[in-house]
Amino acid sequence: MTAKNNSTALRTHLCGEMHAEKIGQKVTLCGWVGRRREHGEHLAFLDLRDYSGIVQCVVDNSVDVRSEWVIRVTGTVQARPAGTVNENIPTGKVELADCKIEVLNNAEPPPFPIDQRGDDVDENVRLKYRYLDIRRERMQKNLRLRAAVNSAIRKSMESQGFTEIETPLLMPSTPEGAREFLVPSRNEPGSFYALPQSPQLWKQLLMVAGIDRYYQIAKCLRDEDLRADRQYEFMQLDAEMSFVNKDDVMTMISTAVIAAAKAATGSEPPPIERMTWHEAMNDYGIDKPDLRFAMKLVELTKVFASTEFKAFASAESIKAICVRGADYPLQAASGRNKLDALTERAKKLGAKGLVWIKVADGSVLESPVAKFLSAKEQADLIAQTKATVGDLILIVADQWATTCSVLGQLRNDLGRPPVHEGPYRYVWIVDFPMFVGINPTTNMPQPGHHPFCHPHQEDVDRLETEPLSVRALAYDLVLNGWELGSGSIRIHEPELQRRVFRQLGISDEDADARFGFFLQPFKYGAPPHGGFAFGIDRLVAILAGEDNIREVIAFPKTQSGSDPMTNAPTTVDAAQLKELGIRLLPPAIK
Ligand code: ASP
Repeated sequence: MTAKNNSTALRTHLCGEMHAEKIGQKVTLCGWVGRRREHGEHLAFLDLRDYSGIVQCVVDNSVDVRSEWVIRVTGTVQARPAGTVNENIPTGKVELADCKIEVLNNAEPPPFPIDQRGDDVDENVRLKYRYLDIRRERMQKNLRLRAAVNSAIRKSMESQGFTEIETPLLMPSTPEGAREFLVPSRNEPGSFYALPQSPQLWKQLLMVAGIDRYYQIAKCLRDEDLRADRQYEFMQLDAEMSFVNKDDVMTMISTAVIAAAKAATGSEPPPIERMTWHEAMNDYGIDKPDLRFAMKLVELTKVFASTEFKAFASAESIKAICVRGADYPLQAASGRNKLDALTERAKKLGAKGLVWIKVADGSVLESPVAKFLSAKEQADLIAQTKATVGDLILIVADQWATTCSVLGQLRNDLGRPPVHEGPYRYVWIVDFPMFVGINPTTNMPQPGHHPFCHPHQEDVDRLETEPLSVRALAYDLVLNGWELGSGSIRIHEPELQRRVFRQLGISDEDADARFGFFLQPFKYGAPPHGGFAFGIDRLVAILAGEDNIREVIAFPKTQSGSDPMTNAPTTVDAAQLKELGIRLLPPAIK
């Protein structure tokens, strides 16, 4: 920061620039009044705050300024007297003396303190007065970090030859998988626009249009239940490129993510690892594995291949996690209540049950089921899980998918640190399945991603005969157990697109009626292409050390989707509804 850049008609410097080298200089600063401390009979200390920091001003105690008043202070920078230096703040060696104060605006007392004393204020109150919450250091830091991340992403994408192009917000409804926000049309009552779940269709059309490399920091909207890592509206780095394979896409996106991480943290993360979807599910029981901790799933199906124990005998897949006594003191992980709770949790997650086994002294297995296991099975179990005294083994026997997902969730429940903690472990998950099961009502396969993902070349022939075995050229980027984003190589062959639509129960006529505008252009020479999108809110939250994306969004919605400041969503005038051709159902029928 240089004084020149920060000086304006009203000020010469920022508060945060008041360091020892300014001693002796006369400066004019603007900002808000922070804490005030009376000092002796005639003097008071005022903290003056702007976004760059705070500086102590020595003022006559007759000065009538109160918390959060906006003032302009002219004074001389002086060294603080010995013994009064504050090492905890960057400007703690100096203070402003001989201050002349001009009140620019006064203020009502704020509903919560703007300094650290306001840290545990209820979130609804913070959101109701978000403009004051943003005045606080935490939000100032987070929003500026977010801007640094955006800027690094833009620079990286541009240096890799991408062109930034904006795409429409008002568009037709598309089959991308999430529930859409609809906007009624006034000119065509009864018709609706959809707000974009992502710019997916547009960016693919830009490839047909010969743009070659497109990117956009795009607002996306999905009407889905909100969580710590989900808001109705969120920002994505959205990118698409032509004449590429998946490695090209992953390399370019990795470059942008690494640049963003470096801009935020000052250090470059190691090259991003890769794992297939099958490995992720098999070893971690989840397609967004958190690699910061071990507790991998251990394969036991062979160990119990000829077991007499009924619950294991007929299971397609038997796996375990071993909860290390050293990491999780046995009392904490395996007290009776805790074990009952874990069993209940496993059942809720879809398992028929959960077998727990404690390893006691002399490698004796303590468990209600120990007596059903042969000596060899017990020894092999210990060998496979590498369990030692004090460890707790949790076993699930079920269909492979259930075994994996239940243990994957228990692993997260028991071992996962808060998302921002510890090292940053990025991982690419590749080779997702094209379909994730059969929809029981329609009897049709359910898409794993959006229906524009290209099937793996080797698997295309099995699209109709064995759809569940078909892999997609789709990949996700995961950071500390959060899905940062996903992408794929797209279908550019119109006939293949129709085959995929048919598999999803969308007939050729339906496809033409609903997405003709999208399919038609593919007849005019669509290049092979692929792309990716990742959530900027999620990346910034983790890099900022926050567990909730609301902390890195200026004006987010609450968990229930409302805005305590503006009261959105709100009702609208009857006249406005009439104009749109909308009549509301009585509340009871809603
Ligand atoms: N449009 C996709 C999404 O937002 C990402 C992609 O396939 O590029 O999830």
